[in-house]
Amino acid sequence: VKIHNVRLGLACNSSSSHSLIILEDISGIKDDEAYTRNDQYDHGGDDFLRDMMQRIREKEEQEQQARIDSNGPIKEFGWNYFTVISQQSKLQYLGVMLAECLQRELPENFYNAILREWVGVVPSTESSDDNWSYIDHQSLMGLPCGFGTKLPDQEFFEELKTYILQENIVILGGNDNEDRVHPLHLQKHRPANIDLPRDGRSHFVARKDPKYNYWSMFWETGAKLRMSLGQPEGFSPTKAYAPELVDIKINDYCPFGCNFCYQGSTPDKGHADVHEIGTLARHLAKYKVFEVALGGGEPTLHPQFVEILESFRKVGIIPNFTTKNLAWLNDVTQWRPIMDYAGAFAYSADTAEDVEKLASLLKVNGISSTKASVQIVMGVVSQWEFKAIITACAFYSIRLTLLGFKRIGRGAEFEPNGYTWWLNIIQQLRKENKIGNLSVDTALAAEYEQEILDMGIPDYLFHTQEGKFSMYVDAVTKMAGPSSYCDPSEMIPWDFKKTEYLESSNYPTLDQVFEKF
Ligand code: SF4
Repeated sequence: VKIHNVRLGLACNSSSSHSLIILEDISGIKDDEAYTRNDQYDHGGDDFLRDMMQRIREKEEQEQQARIDSNGPIKEFGWNYFTVISQQSKLQYLGVMLAECLQRELPENFYNAILREWVGVVPSTESSDDNWSYIDHQSLMGLPCGFGTKLPDQEFFEELKTYILQENIVILGGNDNEDRVHPLHLQKHRPANIDLPRDGRSHFVARKDPKYNYWSMFWETGAKLRMSLGQPEGFSPTKAYAPELVDIKINDYCPFGCNFCYQGSTPDKGHADVHEIGTLARHLAKYKVFEVALGGGEPTLHPQFVEILESFRKVGIIPNFTTKNLAWLNDVTQWRPIMDYAGAFAYSADTAEDVEKLASLLKVNGISSTKASVQIVMGVVSQWEFKAIITACAFYSIRLTLLGFKRIGRGAEFEPNGYTWWLNIIQQLRKENKIGNLSVDTALAAEYEQEILDMGIPDYLFHTQEGKFSMYVDAVTKMAGPSSYCDPSEMIPWDFKKTEYLESSNYPTLDQVFEKF
């Protein structure tokens, strides 16, 4: 198994810890429910307790023997030290995992039908039932949902099932409350880390890349994970068959007149057609594009902005946007529907006071600061203001994104301030504990790649190339490119509104356009 991911958060609790390992030699290994052993507990000189534990152990061993004799699967996957190697017990384990996800969304007859079809067993998850089967909740893996649904993705589940049912894959039970190690951990093995969330309750969606053969998972919080099952050591995807994220310019209208605007937007330019954007949303959903970043111009001033957000949300795509306008946050009839449909937004700030204004509006309206972030364009703020903005963002717990300066549009005529000092300031503020959640865009990462690596930031935490997992669509002029700031020669015409009617013809679909970048 090859995982290409970053785990968020630390394990701070004691818990059951089930492991998947790949054993080199499985001869002589059988299912085993090594129940609680009385040597686990020190009862001092208490004969009564020792006797009682002895009787419990004997009873459990008899039950286990009876189950093994009847060739029944293991059903309890709790804190105990178990070994699961038979197909029957593995299917039981997978069945419980699947049942836990299905029960939240479907009535019993529906989820039982799916269990029969997908795993061939219907485990009882009622604790009152003699046949009760369970996985301790701290070890229960969450399953990704199908795109735009709340139900587990069948293709992913089938692949996971095929992987786990391999003969040399063994599931080991145990917990991290004791010093004991499951004996099979001492044999020659490789870990088969399947880094899915452990609470079983996270909602995230999955997409299989049919061309490059790996899975992408996406959480609404924005967390993303790419993983593959059974790929050779060293495999790491460098491109997707279709973008995971699409940047969309929905208008060229903007009243703010920034003299470094790389889009060259002005108050006399127009908006993209809302119906055509609806067509684009449906087309992107066919390719399971996880999220879009709507920009302009000033997107919040598109006359049908809320409809546009809705058109993405209703097909299962999370719409985010960038804005320099805070006026909509003063009007409940505007911000409520916007925040209902949008995943998050980025606010372009020039000063620390701008950050304070944003923080106040979020607080007054009861909007979580995780729904907003601040972005600044490097080269247009002074060193002093840069520090003040970083400090203000950390103070208000608002994420900050630093954008590289783009020398196109009006940016081609603008002479930016030098900003070679930015990494030193970040180091300094980090030492002073005055820095919060900070990210950089691809342009800045590419410009300072070596310096970022020299700081000890691993390369899997940033990208330096556009057009590999994301792309740009100018919905006003109907052009597509690897990024919103690419060289104009890299943009290609893409009249996406025709895709709805012409997919059977030679008109390029999203994956065909994306292949060109
Ligand atoms: S940079 Fe943004 S806010 Fe400024 S003019 Fe351009 S689109 Fe408008």
